[in-house]
Amino acid sequence: MPAAVGELRFDQPPLDELLSTLRRAAHTADEVGGPLPEVLDVLRTCGVLGLVVPARYGGLGQDAVALNRVVTDVARVDASTAIILFQHFAVSARITDWGTEEQKRTLLPRAASGEWLLASGWSETGAGADKRRIATTAQRQPDGGWILDGAKSFTTGAGIADLYLILAQSGADEPGTSTYGAAGQSFFLVEADNPGLVPDHGPDLIGMRASATGFVQLRSCRLGAEALLGPEGEATRIIGTVRESGATLGAVSVGIAEAAYDLLLEHVTQRGLTNQQAVRHRIVNLATQIEAARAIVERSGRGDAADPGMTTLYSKLFASTTSETVVAEVHRMLGSAGFVRTHPVNRLAHDARAVALMGPTNDVCRELVSAQCLTSLTTPGLT
Ligand SMILES: Cc1cc2nc3c(=O)[nH]c(=O)nc-3n(C[C@H](O)[C@H](O)[C@H](O)COP(=O)(O)OP(=O)(O)OC[C@H]3O[C@@H](n4cnc5c(N)ncnc54)[C@H](O)[C@@H]3O)c2cc1C
Repeated sequence: MPAAVGELRFDQPPLDELLSTLRRAAHTADEVGGPLPEVLDVLRTCGVLGLVVPARYGGLGQDAVALNRVVTDVARVDASTAIILFQHFAVSARITDWGTEEQKRTLLPRAASGEWLLASGWSETGAGADKRRIATTAQRQPDGGWILDGAKSFTTGAGIADLYLILAQSGADEPGTSTYGAAGQSFFLVEADNPGLVPDHGPDLIGMRASATGFVQLRSCRLGAEALLGPEGEATRIIGTVRESGATLGAVSVGIAEAAYDLLLEHVTQRGLTNQQAVRHRIVNLATQIEAARAIVERSGRGDAADPGMTTLYSKLFASTTSETVVAEVHRMLGSAGFVRTHPVNRLAHDARAVALMGPTNDVCRELVSAQCLTSLTTPGLT
């Protein structure tokens, strides 16, 4: 049944049950430092996981505008669940865009129905945020299969996912050929029940504590030829198209900023502060910043800018820095109420920070944007 979300209409999955479960569970999940089973149950059964899977594979076939909006709505209640969801959407979109017909037919219906939760393992300790020095290797076997060895860090959904998109070095690197990723890297789809894949708890994170962000080890992990996603050695090309899709972690940041704003409105109303002009004006400034972040995330999802990939990078940079600024201002305005450890604004501050550290990290985003800006600056006729 089509449902209205903002001014746009799309087949929205029934989020109400998920959001109400998260409202009850988010604080406890943050305290225990992991997703609660009841949240994962609802996540898998409520229908949201099929959002961007094409209808012919059992999904809702929605676009990046819908994706960003759902991620924002979930992040407004719990940013940890929003990043689990974002990774699931991102991997299902990669399979849709780059999978063989066989991979799509086998994997996507499971991703859409919630039988399978999908995760991405690209990052490694010491590999660098730009993923140019990864140590995980993929060795081609005589039968056409692969053996993967290595260790991934900061994998969101580690231990709860059923399928992992693993980045590995499968061939020779050619230094200096890329700003993000390296030549000779490939993507592999690894099922959680593969005995060579060993997930582990990650470090005790200060933010996104309920996102199951942890380690994944690959120990002589044997895969069939069908595990390769996309052309061998061309992961950087696939990564480039991720940006073109318009799905942005900025959507998570908008939800976090909205949550902080909600806390502030509740606070000033309860304390009778709305009759003070200075308070009202500060609130308007925050609302203006959030609206601008929402707008650029929406534009990123529409993909109608001259260079959609750049808009996705701008949206992540702008929304994530805006949400950090908004949460800090809300923190100040809450006064001593916000200085209590268990006050939700403290969770929002850490979650807002985390988005800047997620791939591409904000500094890497700036590098990618600067490469493009400097190219146009040196183009004859523009000086
Ligand atoms: C909550 C959370 C969830 C995550 N989930 C996932 C996930 O699901 N899958 C996954 O693969 N990864 C995930 N990551 C990892 C994330 O994507 C980053 O790649 C990783 O955190 C970068 O590691 P680092 O900061 O230690 O890198 P470092 O390379 O040590 O970077 C240190 C600093 O230098 C900057 N920097 C590094 N290289 C460059 C460069 N070339 N140009 C400019 N600045 C640079 C970085 O931005 C950072 O500020 C997650 C991270 C967090 C915090």
